Amino acid sequence: MPYEAKPLPFKKSLKGISDKTMQIHHDKLYQGYVTKSNEIREKLDAVEKLGNGTLEKANQSYSDLRAMKDGETFAVNGVYLHEYYFNVLGGEGNATGSLVDAIAIEFGSLDNFVKYFKACGLAARGWAVLSWDTHVGALRVYTADAHNQGGVWGAIPVIVLDVYEHAYFIDYGSDRKAYIEDYMTNLNWDAANAVYERAKRF
Ligand code: FE
Repeated sequence: MPYEAKPLPFKKSLKGISDKTMQIHHDKLYQGYVTKSNEIREKLDAVEKLGNGTLEKANQSYSDLRAMKDGETFAVNGVYLHEYYFNVLGGEGNATGSLVDAIAIEFGSLDNFVKYFKACGLAARGWAVLSWDTHVGALRVYTADAHNQGGVWGAIPVIVLDVYEHAYFIDYGSDRKAYIEDYMTNLNWDAANAVYERAKRF
């Protein structure tokens, strides 16, 4: 199977964000996207090789191919975005490294970035993503209202914030702001630096 669920990259409990939330988030929601990604891939494998009459009926209002292609980007981005999200959690929130230097240059200061990033988390309905945009060779924060909406192709996610309600409602109720505050204190900047170092080679 091409998509495989990865274990959480950290073992410790997070500050504020409960084990229960992480367990539901990882074991149910994330794994669900992996399962669906594989289910759709299996169907698309058959369509790609055999057609099965699906290609002839392709239609943008409604068709089996449209349903599969829409589900594909939703499920696969659901897998990838969650992996980026989990990857930068489990740290102490101590901002250090080359990424912090680059952030200070791009956004004026680390404080400016943190303020902006948190606000983007309040402005988005799904995701706030600090990315390395390979087209301009610079850091950009892009936001998405769904897994398959708002993403910018050629931008590599570095620090990913999930602002769907399932990420915080058990622990914070509707107080998304408090969740985002705690998210920042759980950031693993070493992990973020490692992604940034790889991303900026593109
Ligand atoms: Fe999520």
